[in-house]
Amino acid sequence: MKTTNETAVLFIEEIRILIRNHYGPLFWWPGDSPDEIAIGAILTQNTAWQNVEKALNNMKKKKLLSFPAILEYDTVILAEAIRPSGYFNQKAKKLKILAKKVCQNDGKTITDFLKGKSTAAARKQLIETWGIGPETADSILLYADNRRIFVVDAYTKRIFSRHGISAPDTDYETIREMVENAIPPDSSDYNEFHAGIVHLGKDFCHRKNPDCGTCPLGRLLRQSG
Ligand code: SF4
Repeated sequence: MKTTNETAVLFIEEIRILIRNHYGPLFWWPGDSPDEIAIGAILTQNTAWQNVEKALNNMKKKKLLSFPAILEYDTVILAEAIRPSGYFNQKAKKLKILAKKVCQNDGKTITDFLKGKSTAAARKQLIETWGIGPETADSILLYADNRRIFVVDAYTKRIFSRHGISAPDTDYETIREMVENAIPPDSSDYNEFHAGIVHLGKDFCHRKNPDCGTCPLGRLLRQSG
Protein backbone atom coordinates (compact mmCIF):
# COMPACT_ATOMS: atom_id res chain seq x y z
CA MET A 1 0.00 0.00 0.00
CA LYS A 2 1.37 3.42 -0.91
CA THR A 3 0.62 6.38 1.33
CA THR A 4 1.03 10.09 0.72
CA ASN A 5 3.35 12.04 3.04
CA GLU A 6 0.38 13.66 4.69
CA THR A 7 -1.29 10.33 5.38
CA ALA A 8 2.01 8.95 6.67
CA VAL A 9 2.32 11.85 9.13
CA LEU A 10 -1.14 11.17 10.56
CA PHE A 11 -0.51 7.44 10.60
CA ILE A 12 2.79 7.77 12.48
CA GLU A 13 1.12 9.95 15.12
CA GLU A 14 -1.73 7.43 15.45
CA ILE A 15 0.77 4.60 15.89
CA ARG A 16 2.66 6.59 18.52
CA ILE A 17 -0.50 7.20 20.54
CA LEU A 18 -1.63 3.56 20.33
CA ILE A 19 1.79 2.36 21.50
CA ARG A 20 1.90 4.92 24.31
CA ASN A 21 -1.60 3.95 25.46
CA HIS A 22 -0.61 0.30 25.51
CA TYR A 23 2.71 0.55 27.35
CA GLY A 24 2.46 3.82 29.27
CA PRO A 25 5.72 5.62 30.14
CA LEU A 26 8.75 3.37 29.62
CA PHE A 27 11.46 5.72 30.95
CA TRP A 28 14.17 4.53 28.58
CA TRP A 29 17.15 4.10 28.22
CA PRO A 30 18.43 1.93 31.08
CA GLY A 31 21.59 3.47 32.52
CA ASP A 32 22.71 5.40 35.59
CA SER A 33 24.58 8.14 33.74
CA PRO A 34 25.00 9.66 30.25
CA ASP A 35 28.35 7.84 29.98
CA GLU A 36 26.77 4.47 30.79
CA ILE A 37 24.09 5.17 28.15
CA ALA A 38 26.67 6.10 25.51
CA ILE A 39 28.80 3.03 26.29
CA GLY A 40 25.65 0.85 26.25
CA ALA A 41 24.72 2.27 22.83
CA ILE A 42 27.94 0.84 21.41
CA LEU A 43 27.73 -2.45 23.31
CA THR A 44 24.16 -3.10 22.14
CA GLN A 45 25.15 -3.23 18.47
CA ASN A 46 24.16 -6.66 17.10
CA THR A 47 23.24 -8.17 20.43
CA ALA A 48 20.41 -8.49 22.94
CA TRP A 49 20.22 -6.12 25.89
CA GLN A 50 20.71 -8.91 28.49
CA ASN A 51 24.22 -9.41 27.09
CA VAL A 52 24.90 -5.68 27.34
CA GLU A 53 23.83 -5.69 30.99
CA LYS A 54 26.37 -8.42 31.76
CA ALA A 55 29.11 -6.47 29.98
CA LEU A 56 28.19 -3.24 31.80
CA ASN A 57 28.21 -5.05 35.14
CA ASN A 58 31.68 -6.41 34.41
CA MET A 59 32.84 -2.90 33.51
CA LYS A 60 31.38 -1.56 36.77
CA LYS A 61 33.14 -4.23 38.84
CA LYS A 62 36.46 -3.46 37.16
CA LYS A 63 35.88 0.33 37.45
CA LEU A 64 36.00 0.66 33.69
CA LEU A 65 32.72 2.48 33.24
CA SER A 66 34.11 5.90 32.41
CA PHE A 67 35.86 7.27 29.34
CA PRO A 68 39.13 8.13 31.14
CA ALA A 69 39.24 4.54 32.49
CA ILE A 70 38.49 3.08 29.04
CA LEU A 71 41.31 5.16 27.62
CA GLU A 72 43.74 4.19 30.35
CA TYR A 73 43.16 0.43 30.51
CA ASP A 74 44.65 -2.11 28.18
CA THR A 75 42.40 -3.07 25.24
CA VAL A 76 42.71 -6.76 26.15
CA ILE A 77 41.36 -6.13 29.68
CA LEU A 78 38.55 -4.01 28.26
CA ALA A 79 37.67 -6.64 25.64
CA GLU A 80 37.56 -9.37 28.29
CA ALA A 81 35.18 -7.29 30.45
CA ILE A 82 32.75 -6.72 27.59
CA ARG A 83 33.01 -10.27 26.18
CA PRO A 84 29.29 -11.07 26.95
CA SER A 85 28.19 -8.35 24.48
CA GLY A 86 29.74 -10.22 21.51
CA TYR A 87 32.16 -8.80 18.90
CA PHE A 88 34.12 -7.79 22.01
CA ASN A 89 37.45 -7.06 20.30
CA GLN A 90 35.77 -4.72 17.80
CA LYS A 91 33.63 -3.09 20.47
CA ALA A 92 36.67 -2.56 22.73
CA LYS A 93 38.35 -0.78 19.84
CA LYS A 94 35.24 1.35 19.23
CA LEU A 95 35.07 2.33 22.91
CA LYS A 96 38.76 3.21 22.93
CA ILE A 97 38.39 5.43 19.85
CA LEU A 98 35.36 7.23 21.30
CA ALA A 99 37.14 7.59 24.65
CA LYS A 100 40.09 9.21 22.92
CA LYS A 101 37.77 11.80 21.35
CA VAL A 102 35.87 12.39 24.58
CA CYS A 103 39.03 12.86 26.63
CA GLN A 104 40.75 15.26 24.29
CA ASN A 105 40.85 18.88 25.52
CA ASP A 106 40.55 17.68 29.14
CA GLY A 107 37.08 16.19 28.60
CA LYS A 108 35.98 13.35 30.84
CA THR A 109 32.37 12.58 29.91
CA ILE A 110 30.15 12.29 26.86
CA THR A 111 28.42 15.43 28.14
CA ASP A 112 31.73 17.32 27.99
CA PHE A 113 32.19 16.10 24.43
CA LEU A 114 28.72 17.17 23.24
CA LYS A 115 28.54 20.44 25.19
CA GLY A 116 28.34 23.59 23.06
CA LYS A 117 27.86 21.69 19.80
CA SER A 118 24.73 21.96 17.71
CA THR A 119 22.91 18.66 17.25
CA ALA A 120 24.00 18.55 13.61
CA ALA A 121 27.67 19.16 14.52
CA ALA A 122 27.59 16.66 17.39
CA ARG A 123 25.95 14.06 15.15
CA LYS A 124 28.53 14.60 12.42
CA GLN A 125 31.40 14.15 14.88
CA LEU A 126 29.89 10.98 16.31
CA ILE A 127 29.20 9.48 12.89
CA GLU A 128 32.74 10.29 11.81
CA THR A 129 33.98 8.17 14.72
CA TRP A 130 34.95 4.64 13.64
CA GLY A 131 32.27 2.11 14.64
CA ILE A 132 29.49 4.64 15.24
CA GLY A 133 26.71 4.69 12.66
CA PRO A 134 23.55 6.81 12.59
CA GLU A 135 21.56 4.56 14.94
CA THR A 136 24.27 4.54 17.62
CA ALA A 137 24.96 8.27 17.20
CA ASP A 138 21.28 9.14 17.49
CA SER A 139 20.85 6.84 20.52
CA ILE A 140 23.68 8.72 22.25
CA LEU A 141 22.28 12.12 21.28
CA LEU A 142 18.70 11.33 22.30
CA TYR A 143 19.20 9.22 25.41
CA ALA A 144 22.50 10.51 26.81
CA ASP A 145 22.04 14.18 25.92
CA ASN A 146 18.28 14.79 25.45
CA ARG A 147 18.73 16.03 21.88
CA ARG A 148 15.70 16.27 19.62
CA ILE A 149 16.44 13.42 17.30
CA PHE A 150 14.62 10.17 16.55
CA VAL A 151 16.35 6.78 16.56
CA VAL A 152 15.43 4.42 13.71
CA ASP A 153 16.10 0.73 14.28
CA ALA A 154 15.23 -2.56 12.59
CA TYR A 155 11.90 -2.72 14.45
CA THR A 156 10.93 0.74 13.17
CA LYS A 157 11.67 -0.30 9.60
CA ARG A 158 9.75 -3.57 9.99
CA ILE A 159 6.67 -2.03 11.61
CA PHE A 160 6.56 0.92 9.20
CA SER A 161 6.89 -1.27 6.14
CA ARG A 162 4.24 -3.72 7.37
CA HIS A 163 1.87 -0.78 7.78
CA GLY A 164 2.67 0.75 4.40
CA ILE A 165 4.35 3.87 5.83
CA SER A 166 7.67 3.12 4.17
CA ALA A 167 9.15 0.45 1.95
CA PRO A 168 11.37 -2.30 3.45
CA ASP A 169 14.42 -0.65 1.87
CA THR A 170 13.62 2.98 2.76
CA ASP A 171 16.82 4.51 4.11
CA TYR A 172 17.52 5.56 7.69
CA GLU A 173 17.48 9.33 7.15
CA THR A 174 14.18 9.30 5.25
CA ILE A 175 12.42 7.43 8.06
CA ARG A 176 14.00 9.64 10.74
CA GLU A 177 12.81 12.78 8.95
CA MET A 178 9.33 11.34 8.45
CA VAL A 179 8.98 10.72 12.20
CA GLU A 180 10.46 14.09 13.15
CA ASN A 181 7.96 15.78 10.81
CA ALA A 182 5.09 13.73 12.20
CA ILE A 183 5.45 14.11 15.95
CA PRO A 184 6.13 17.15 18.12
CA PRO A 185 9.82 18.07 18.41
CA ASP A 186 10.14 17.05 22.02
CA SER A 187 12.89 14.65 22.98
CA SER A 188 10.70 12.91 25.56
CA ASP A 189 8.23 12.02 22.78
CA TYR A 190 11.04 10.68 20.59
CA ASN A 191 12.48 8.88 23.60
CA GLU A 192 9.18 7.17 24.45
CA PHE A 193 8.22 6.44 20.83
CA HIS A 194 11.47 4.65 20.06
CA ALA A 195 11.26 2.70 23.34
CA GLY A 196 7.66 1.73 22.55
CA ILE A 197 8.61 0.55 19.06
CA VAL A 198 11.36 -1.66 20.51
CA HIS A 199 8.90 -3.18 23.01
CA LEU A 200 6.24 -3.68 20.32
CA GLY A 201 8.76 -5.32 18.01
CA LYS A 202 9.89 -7.74 20.72
CA ASP A 203 6.41 -8.52 22.04
CA PHE A 204 4.37 -8.70 18.82
CA CYS A 205 6.04 -7.75 15.53
CA HIS A 206 8.34 -10.75 15.20
CA ARG A 207 10.32 -11.21 12.01
CA LYS A 208 8.38 -14.40 11.37
CA ASN A 209 4.77 -14.87 12.48
CA PRO A 210 3.86 -11.40 13.77
CA ASP A 211 1.15 -11.55 16.42
CA CYS A 212 -1.23 -9.06 14.77
CA GLY A 213 -4.28 -10.58 16.50
CA THR A 214 -3.26 -9.28 19.94
CA CYS A 215 -1.00 -6.39 18.89
CA PRO A 216 -2.13 -2.85 19.87
CA LEU A 217 -1.69 -1.86 16.21
CA GLY A 218 -3.71 -4.79 14.90
CA ARG A 219 -6.81 -2.74 14.33
CA LEU A 220 -4.95 -0.45 11.93
CA LEU A 221 -4.31 -3.44 9.68
CA ARG A 222 -7.95 -4.52 9.93
CA GLN A 223 -9.13 -0.96 9.10
CA SER A 224 -6.94 -0.79 6.01
CA GLY A 225 -8.46 -4.04 4.89
S1 SF4 B 1 2.41 -7.34 14.86
FE1 SF4 B 1 1.07 -6.88 13.13
S2 SF4 B 1 -0.25 -5.23 13.85
FE2 SF4 B 1 1.53 -5.32 15.23
S3 SF4 B 1 3.00 -3.89 14.42
FE3 SF4 B 1 3.49 -5.88 13.52
S4 SF4 B 1 2.37 -5.93 11.59
FE4 SF4 B 1 1.50 -4.29 12.82
